[in-house]
Amino acid sequence: MASISIKNMSVSYNKGKSYVLDNLNLEVKDGEFCVFLGPSGCGKSTAMHCIAGLLHPASGEIRFGNEVMTEGSGKKKTFVPPQERNIAMVFQEYALYPNMTVRENMSFALKTKKAPKEEIEKRVNYMAQMLSIEQLLDRRPAELSGGQRQRVALGRALVRDPQVFLLDEPLGNLDAKLRDQVRYELKKIQEQLGITTIYVTHDQTEAMTMADHIVLMRDGYIMQQGTPNELYDHPANEFVAGFLGTPQINLFSCDVKQENGKLILDAGAFRLEAPDSVRETLKDYAGQQVDLGVRPSDFEQAKEEANAIHAHVDSVEPLGDAYLIYVRVGDKVVVYKNTDEQAPTERELLLKPNMGKLHLFDPKTQKRINS
Ligand code: ADP
Ligand code: MG
Repeated sequence: MASISIKNMSVSYNKGKSYVLDNLNLEVKDGEFCVFLGPSGCGKSTAMHCIAGLLHPASGEIRFGNEVMTEGSGKKKTFVPPQERNIAMVFQEYALYPNMTVRENMSFALKTKKAPKEEIEKRVNYMAQMLSIEQLLDRRPAELSGGQRQRVALGRALVRDPQVFLLDEPLGNLDAKLRDQVRYELKKIQEQLGITTIYVTHDQTEAMTMADHIVLMRDGYIMQQGTPNELYDHPANEFVAGFLGTPQINLFSCDVKQENGKLILDAGAFRLEAPDSVRETLKDYAGQQVDLGVRPSDFEQAKEEANAIHAHVDSVEPLGDAYLIYVRVGDKVVVYKNTDEQAPTERELLLKPNMGKLHLFDPKTQKRINS
């Protein structure tokens, strides 16, 4: 097992005319489950291919533990080829050998490495048990369902006892229910094996549920990295705030006004008195604007007018254990997640945000300004 360290890595597909990754810095701890998250085209797979040794970065350094995998350029370049990195990879399009049984598929890499027969058998059986595919070992891929095939692909990769496990959108082909199940099992196995893992996805739910460490990327840059809760509770900017959480965070443009010694956030359709926790921050913005973010689950129904928001109910979506209530506030549509047993029956609601969970951003830089 090994930690992974990336320093100042830049990658270009056109000999330096433009960069797909620009000066990337990143540390993945030994045994950690790290998720590269971000919209399609942001550079997740590119970063992973560099770690795998399938791509040469233009500059920068990659280490596994203390071992240099990629470093320098020109004649002084160190570049360990993929087959010597002791990594295992699983992609969305995993090709199992169709003429081989599951057992043969899973044994193949170890046989090529000339591992002893008993050792191969032991490892294949152990991994098959971990993945609950023991009863499938003598079948061929054509006789398996999509979910079973995906498990075989995972088993085939893990049986080699790699030091780093790389997965690129591996669950994309599975239906939603199966995806939840394989997700849960994958996370459990990763924990048991303690194997350093990088998992690429554009799906924020997968990232939130599986990651020890999320690296959220956009256009080749890291927007924020940390634990799922750090990113969710303290998004560093509006992009991160919007990318994590479903439905998305509600954003309001507010004038910051100083009135009779009070600081007011004035969104036009409602006014909130700034709580003490953000007063110092907001003082610097008096007479200017800030963007206010409130997550759908951070509203509740208010009993009094102070700090309340008049909302007109547009539609109600039952989720089973909660309701998503789409309301109009002024000319904006706002989502409020209500966990009461009954959905509200009135058309006009008075809502108040949880004042301890306000997210404030500078509209020019889009960066978070409150702590
Ligand atoms: P992601 O995995 O996050 O969807 P990629 O790493 O595949 O993103 O791609 C990042 C950017 O690099 C995209 O703009 C993509 O078009 C470009 N790109 C990816 N692979 C190649 C390639 N082989 N040649 C040229 N451009 C590429
Ligand atoms: Mg990709």
